[in-house]
Amino acid sequence: MKILLLCSGGDAPGMNRFVYDIFKEFGNETYFALAGFDGLVNNRIYPLKKVVKEDFKDKSGVIIKTSRCPEFKEKKFFKAGLENAKKFDCVIICGGNGSERGAKELFESGANTLFVPGTIDNDVEDNFYSIGFSTAVKECVYAVENVMPSMESMTRSCLFEVMGRECDAICVKAGKLVGADYVAKDQIDYEKMTDVILKKYEKGQSAKILIRENLEDIEKIARKLNKMLGLDIVKYHIVGRTQRGGTPTKDELEMADKFAAETIKAIKNNKTGRVLADKNMKVRICDFK
Ligand code: ADP
Repeated sequence: MKILLLCSGGDAPGMNRFVYDIFKEFGNETYFALAGFDGLVNNRIYPLKKVVKEDFKDKSGVIIKTSRCPEFKEKKFFKAGLENAKKFDCVIICGGNGSERGAKELFESGANTLFVPGTIDNDVEDNFYSIGFSTAVKECVYAVENVMPSMESMTRSCLFEVMGRECDAICVKAGKLVGADYVAKDQIDYEKMTDVILKKYEKGQSAKILIRENLEDIEKIARKLNKMLGLDIVKYHIVGRTQRGGTPTKDELEMADKFAAETIKAIKNNKTGRVLADKNMKVRICDFK
């Protein structure tokens, strides 16, 4: 049996544990494509044993590297990738919904692929948990908890910019956990925000507001709010890349193990498709849509 593993799109904490689990099961039968579809297209494919070390499995990042490879959507590059994919009994692709489209197209063109959700955004359709999400939320909660005491000491309100390119999942979940006063998940409502901030301020309190990235420039939002309020009480904090690089939570590692166990089972049963988590966090295999 020859198995190829690749990670694609943004890196997600827990990917390393998944890689390790697959290696532990299949050992010398496992290969990886360096940096996702890019490695697949450009034939940068190596035995996994070359990079596997015991000490990486609980760390964030991903030892086999990942990348975005827009040219993979072009016929010429896709064909090169497909040829390489067909050399393996199974190609495991761990990434987000873009990577899933790549996995499905390879499958429909004759390669045996398995897609595994690995993205901090948790935006894979029909799937309730993606590897990386719990850690990203944890980092966001830490940021709010570590910044707010200073804000409260000076009666400032704070805007937290949270990751999620086109997806509000981290923002919404972290917002609930920290008891945010307002969560801007798809638009910036200045009237609402000034209202929330002012009400808190009048009581000598501080508002915590979570804002999804990519809506508007966070500094400009803070400046505009201060102008509208006629005060200088609104600060901002970009939570940023610790959401990817934070140490994986125990839940994360447990879920990565579950995804790996189901992937291993699928390979042994010659199955292809999507390895997804249901709302009870049970992981199962199902067909590509
Ligand atoms: P994510 O997988 O995290 O959603 P992207 O949306 O950037 O990240 O997609 C990752 C990669 O998946 C892209 O760089 C590209 O190589 C591949 N991909 C995305 N969409 C398609 C598609 N329609 N067909 C083939 N490959 C795709």
